Amino acid sequence: MTADYQKILDHIAIDVRPSFARGKIADYIPALAAAPRDCFGMAVICVSGDEYVVGEADRRFSVQSISKVFALNMALRAIGAPLWDRLGREPSGNPFNSLVQLEYENGVPRNPFINAGALVVVDRLMDVCADPKVAMLDFVREAAGCDDIGFDQEVAASEAAWGYRNRALANFLKGFGNLRHDVDEVLDIYFHHCALAMSCREISRAFVHLANGGISPRTGAAVTKPEHTKQVNALMLTCGLYDSVGDFACRVGIPGKSGVGGGIAAVIPGILSICVYSPGLDESGNSLAGTRALEIFTTESAISIF
Ligand code: GLN
Repeated sequence: MTADYQKILDHIAIDVRPSFARGKIADYIPALAAAPRDCFGMAVICVSGDEYVVGEADRRFSVQSISKVFALNMALRAIGAPLWDRLGREPSGNPFNSLVQLEYENGVPRNPFINAGALVVVDRLMDVCADPKVAMLDFVREAAGCDDIGFDQEVAASEAAWGYRNRALANFLKGFGNLRHDVDEVLDIYFHHCALAMSCREISRAFVHLANGGISPRTGAAVTKPEHTKQVNALMLTCGLYDSVGDFACRVGIPGKSGVGGGIAAVIPGILSICVYSPGLDESGNSLAGTRALEIFTTESAISIF
């Protein structure tokens, strides 16, 4: 019997409220520090096409590292297996913006979901897309079925103005010969990808093909090949929540990807995609109430991949 998803979402929206105060809003750039602490939204999109939402599911927010899933999708589609020549597929066990591992491992990032890995993905996209910013917009607009998704230019400018660590990572990669393109051009694209503004409903729609063997249930189009869908989901499960990925697997039990904007998107293969937004973060940079919300969802619906 299918669980009553709407009832579970309604209950979650009440249950997570006490945890809003414990989260820390991302303040590494001024444009994110103003996010409303008690804002909460959640959307579930089933492969059948059914949608369930609660709270501010249609409010757009900064997707940040959730965009790394879209970029990986695009790169696998355009490049395929050679993408892995300059990029690993192992969890890092380190913060998303850490520099130390890159030094030990000769400039080859552990995976595409840490910042260094995403910079290499952008560098590869620059070989195959005339304009990787436009290509990203085309990808998410098509996947979400929404033509007005765009970049928050204030966030993109703030990322560029305060992006000291990312600049260091890009220069480090360049020093190891693992960036082919100009450092500033790679960073500009990366910052824009992070600054995509989307709602929980739009992100869930843009993820649902990952729950459906790569096929969009809305259009029937193949968004990713089955073997790439497997890779994206495996990487989300093993690397999607940085150094909290084991805790997330134990508590939530599904592949997911977080962003410091406060969003977490996840998929239950064969069944649904889900996205939650609450801007207060835990020490690893993952939404605190969002993680709790997903834990309640998979526990009460009794569906996870385990
Ligand atoms: N824009 C952020 C950064 O580059 C993205 C990190 C994240 O969402 N985890 O550091």
